Amino acid sequence: MTKNPQKPWAATVLTLFPEAFPGALGASIIGGSEKSGIWQLETVDIRDFSVNRHRTVDSPPAGGGPGMVIKPDIAAKAIDSVAQQSRPLIYLTPRGKPLTQTRVRALSKGPGLIVFCGRFEGLDQRVIDARQMEEISIGDYVLAGGEVAAQVLIEACVRLLPGVLGDAESATEESFEDGLLEYPLYTKPREFEGRAIPEVLLSGDHGKIAKWRREEQIKMTKARRADLWAAFDKGDDHECD
Ligand code: SAM
Repeated sequence: MTKNPQKPWAATVLTLFPEAFPGALGASIIGGSEKSGIWQLETVDIRDFSVNRHRTVDSPPAGGGPGMVIKPDIAAKAIDSVAQQSRPLIYLTPRGKPLTQTRVRALSKGPGLIVFCGRFEGLDQRVIDARQMEEISIGDYVLAGGEVAAQVLIEACVRLLPGVLGDAESATEESFEDGLLEYPLYTKPREFEGRAIPEVLLSGDHGKIAKWRREEQIKMTKARRADLWAAFDKGDDHECD
């Protein structure tokens, strides 16, 4: 086992379902890089901070309405049990700022993160405000809980940590890295169900290949993501933020 001489990037996940971890974070290069000490994962069971024998953590919403809300006192105790170590405290919620590759890159350069996974209708607003939690959404849809969202966020960060991706899997030419979507990819065989690999990719002319890929990136971004294209075309920030 290779040991990383620097302090590993550390993710602490506060959850009602610690058994959902590591989940996808235990597989392939992400799981392997945790084993080799590049990053570390810890879960905290929010229910351990309940004050009654039924281990309840939720209560009906003030003002009425469906579902239950996670109580602020219990959430705060769970949060305060974690050594923050300058890590951002994130609450995953559909109401949050949409996650971007720019934010992921910034988080991957820091010491790690602390993530609070909501359940039920969500978390009492007062603890979000009192602990100055950063609210992040992974997309405009509603999941049953924050656990899958936490895995999305952590995986996106971990794959950018030095030593996780080999040269062969470099992240530099990917979608969003320069504000555009990635160009289409092809591999052997040369022909598949009557469809050939574009001739230029077999030409060996690296200049022509780079030009073709750039044109494809632009074509695809214009067709699929008017928002990204507008930001790129404006040229003020070649990011996907
Ligand atoms: N009542 C909430 C709303 O309307 O915004 C949805 C609550 S959802 C059923 C339960 C939990 O799942 C949320 O507190 C959050 O932690 C997580 N969650 C659901 N969708 C999410 C998303 N798109 N991004 C991040 N977290 C999400």
